[in-house]
Amino acid sequence: FHGNFVSERVTSFASGRNVEHMSRLSLMGDLRLAIKRDELRVFCQAKVDMKTRKIAGAEALIRWQHPTLGMVSPAYFIPLAEQSGFIVELTKWMLESCFSWLHRWKNNDIRETLAINLSPYDLLSSSIVCDIGKRMEQWKICSESVEFELTENALVQNPRVALDVLKRLKELGVKLLLDDFGTGYSSLSYLQQFPFDAIKIDQSFIRPMLENSDSAAIVHSTIELGHILGKRVVAEGIESQEIWECLREQDCDFAQGYLVSKPIPIEDFQQWKASWTAEHR
Ligand code: C2E
Ligand code: MG
Ligand code: MG
Ligand code: MG
Repeated sequence: FHGNFVSERVTSFASGRNVEHMSRLSLMGDLRLAIKRDELRVFCQAKVDMKTRKIAGAEALIRWQHPTLGMVSPAYFIPLAEQSGFIVELTKWMLESCFSWLHRWKNNDIRETLAINLSPYDLLSSSIVCDIGKRMEQWKICSESVEFELTENALVQNPRVALDVLKRLKELGVKLLLDDFGTGYSSLSYLQQFPFDAIKIDQSFIRPMLENSDSAAIVHSTIELGHILGKRVVAEGIESQEIWECLREQDCDFAQGYLVSKPIPIEDFQQWKASWTAEHR
């Protein structure tokens, strides 16, 4: 491994204070202009098969390069976009960007899988599934190349609507991942009812799992539960070799975290992947 343990939040995002000095309203105004001004970027973070150490795909993560504030964290501007409804535009921008990359890679005979995060608000727009289907067709994207990540909170507000959207997404052939598992307000029965292919254990359980026996118990039982229900299990936020080994012994399927790689610009991903693959043959 060639892990780098410096927190991305500290090194590359505008400090919280800078961002908070600006009114939410003016920041939202700037965000509305960000697409036209070409300030949004796609970063991606590898997902590794823990058995083979092969790269199983990547998660696409949005970045905003603000002209004066620098990189603003999505943890800050996504909630802002959600409150104003602008999230729908951001999601469309993200879909279009990710599909254009998948298209480009496919033309170069590179098979790749990208996981795209959807907001709970995206599920409320009735055209979302048709929109995704049309874009996949236009860009000639194979459904095996596409995954969507949803949090529990996307399900609880209106479970009936969410279930309908998720079923129709599954009909497109894509995979669905339950993100940040364990941090939301859903019940375990959602795991049974909703057509998820995989569960992502939240990093707040993974990071302290070697020091905190409660976290370790939650991680262990989530892996078991996931497997019993026929789902793959992804661990987020793996920062150390010790945690990797502990999860590997528990048969966790996939790993994501700074130990493997931080999120990097999507244009650099294939080169990064080639060097990883050369090192882990
Ligand atoms: P998420 O989907 O759970 O993404 C994982 C977050 O954990 C990412 O933060 C990633 O950089 C960070 N991370 C990954 N490995 C490690 C690690 O080993 N240690 C630590 N400390 N952090 C790690 P990021 O990119 O800042 O994104 C934060 C959240 O913003 C995401 O959480 C997701 O909920 C949201 N988000 C990001 N991009 C998008 C997007 O395009 N659309 C939507 N709707 N939400 C997005
Ligand atoms: Mg995610
Ligand atoms: Mg997550
Ligand atoms: Mg998260």
